[in-house]
Amino acid sequence: MTATRPARPAWSDDDIEAFRDLARSFLTKECAPHEERWGQQQHVDREIWNKAGELGLLCPSIPTEYGGGGGTFAHEAVMAEEQIRAMVGSLGTAVHSTIVAHYVLAYGTEEQKQRWLPRLASGELVGAIAMTEPGTGSDLQGIKTKALKSGGQYVIDGAKTFISNGGLANFIIVAAKTDPENGAKGISLIAVETDGLEGFSRGRLLKKIGQHGQDTAELFFDGVKVPVDCLLGDEEGQGFIQLMSQLPQERLVLAVGAVAAIEETLAQTLKYTKDRNAFGKTVFSFQNTRFKLAEVATTAKIARVFIDDCIQQHLAGQLDVATASMAKWWTTQMQCDVADECLQFFGGYGYMEEYPISRLYTDARIQKIYGGTNEIMKEIISRFL
Ligand SMILES: Cc1cc2nc3c(=O)[nH]c(=O)nc-3n(C[C@H](O)[C@H](O)[C@H](O)COP(=O)(O)OP(=O)(O)OC[C@H]3O[C@@H](n4cnc5c(N)ncnc54)[C@H](O)[C@@H]3O)c2cc1C
Repeated sequence: MTATRPARPAWSDDDIEAFRDLARSFLTKECAPHEERWGQQQHVDREIWNKAGELGLLCPSIPTEYGGGGGTFAHEAVMAEEQIRAMVGSLGTAVHSTIVAHYVLAYGTEEQKQRWLPRLASGELVGAIAMTEPGTGSDLQGIKTKALKSGGQYVIDGAKTFISNGGLANFIIVAAKTDPENGAKGISLIAVETDGLEGFSRGRLLKKIGQHGQDTAELFFDGVKVPVDCLLGDEEGQGFIQLMSQLPQERLVLAVGAVAAIEETLAQTLKYTKDRNAFGKTVFSFQNTRFKLAEVATTAKIARVFIDDCIQQHLAGQLDVATASMAKWWTTQMQCDVADECLQFFGGYGYMEEYPISRLYTDARIQKIYGGTNEIMKEIISRFL
């Protein structure tokens, strides 16, 4: 192994590495050249979802009988790592494949899996998960969006914000109260296909300090009617438990991206500091640079060992809630610290958008906030102490 690139991890094999090659080729050839334009328009081109689907890059860990790739979380991890290495921050496949498709797989009835999963795998549907509202994020029990049964339908009223893939998604899992008087036990997940849906609208694409090409949006539900068979699963009131059970996988995939980002940041910084001269020698040759980068390399190594272990545990069905929370807060904190330390070595160039290090820095910041803030991660861990 080099200082920055891990050897093939123990959780990988020839099949997974072939998937990695495919993902890398697609991301570098079909996505990376458009990143700047996608950043300006604040979303990817819709067709890229279909292209990714045609190549088998969507839903790689969904069983083949539902149109997926028949792989495991290892395939999802590889996709997350390669996106970082190709510097493609715009395509929200983690939300789509690793999160949304897995809600359907885990909780959907057989009919729902057949109805939605093949279309998520092909890119006909783009997935989003809508929990957060203007008035509540961390305190999920406090959501106000309602889905009340009336005849054979749910009538949904409410507003969601900060929803990833929210601009392009046409399949949205909405966390809503089916029993508004019943706190967490009143929450259900309703799967909503939005094409041509009356009463559904999107707000503006939100302007962010990083991840510019990600379509993050507000969503509005004004008397939206969907058939009762859009309730995920067969029973109301399961939404909170369903969310809590899936969050460890969501947190793990964020941590996988964080570790890949630490490695990429180190690689770019080593290259730059070895090329750049000041006072007649390379920036790398200053003791301060070498010592700081030695520390970063140590962090990268520890993070890699930890995340590989978490991935292996998850593949064995043994990743516990506390460890997933540890992985999320610690790796994303390290990602932000490393991005800040490393950007410094680029001097003024580090602050320029044309230098990828600036994107590694700005894209990192959200990682400590979404998927449950790092403070909430520590709350969760402390419950197990
Ligand atoms: C770019 C982006 C993409 C996102 N994508 C999605 C998405 O796809 N779907 C979705 O549903 N949401 C999404 N979110 C929302 C995100 O998950 C929330 O922003 C996050 O959960 C925090 O909620 P909040 O913003 O309401 O902050 P708040 O809950 O108001 O928290 C504010 C501060 O208080 C702290 N805090 C809150 N409670 C406690 C506590 N008990 N103890 C200690 N500190 C506490 C928090 O850690 C935070 O620092 C996204 C957000 C962004 C910015």
